[in-house]
Amino acid sequence: DIDPLNTIAVEVVAATDARIVTLASGLPDAWFENDGQLTKAEMRALTLAALAPKAGELLWDIGLGAGSVGIEWCLRHPRNRCIGIEERPERAERARRNAQELGATALDIRIGQAPDALADLPAPDAVFIGGGASEPGVFDAAWTALKPGGRLVVNAVTLETETLLGALYAKHGGSMRRLALSRLEAVGGMHGWRAAMPVTQWVVTK
Ligand code: SAH
Repeated sequence: DIDPLNTIAVEVVAATDARIVTLASGLPDAWFENDGQLTKAEMRALTLAALAPKAGELLWDIGLGAGSVGIEWCLRHPRNRCIGIEERPERAERARRNAQELGATALDIRIGQAPDALADLPAPDAVFIGGGASEPGVFDAAWTALKPGGRLVVNAVTLETETLLGALYAKHGGSMRRLALSRLEAVGGMHGWRAAMPVTQWVVTK
């Protein structure tokens, strides 16, 4: 006694709920289990564009957090790979769950602290520093390992890291930009713009 029309309707509803990974970067934040330490969708899209993934390339995602940048790097192409370095084991485990949930099987997670955890890793085509940039030796280790022509992107939200980026920009060039994102949120019965902390981003090619 199955009503075929009802069956079709159920399939349509299921399809509407389905999470379809598009070809563009910047997946919804809600798709990544996180504790608040997450590169937000719009920032992530711009960060991935700056990292400029090409087929089969290797990314180091230093300060993996919930894994969103490394995961999106892997999703851009079936041969892309990422090594994610995260010092907090519970965050590394969360990133592992997110990668599994979204099918990013090429994310290789290393629990450890940069720069020590960077020793002996295969040379990357691109490096993203989302955490640990202010720790001595992290930039130097990443820059030394980066292949010629490789891209390095650092996101900073603190004045201290921004100051460091200013010094690195003076020495190595590249480009700096400041990204300020606001999203509309409910304020009582009305709406207002909720500003995220501005992100200073340094992008440099070796
Ligand atoms: N891009 C991530 C969020 C990064 S939050 C995402 O979208 O999910 C920054 C992370 O860097 C935090 O999880 C913090 O634990 C980690 N971190 C900070 N310093 C580190 C270091 N020296 N080595 C490894 N991880 C570090």
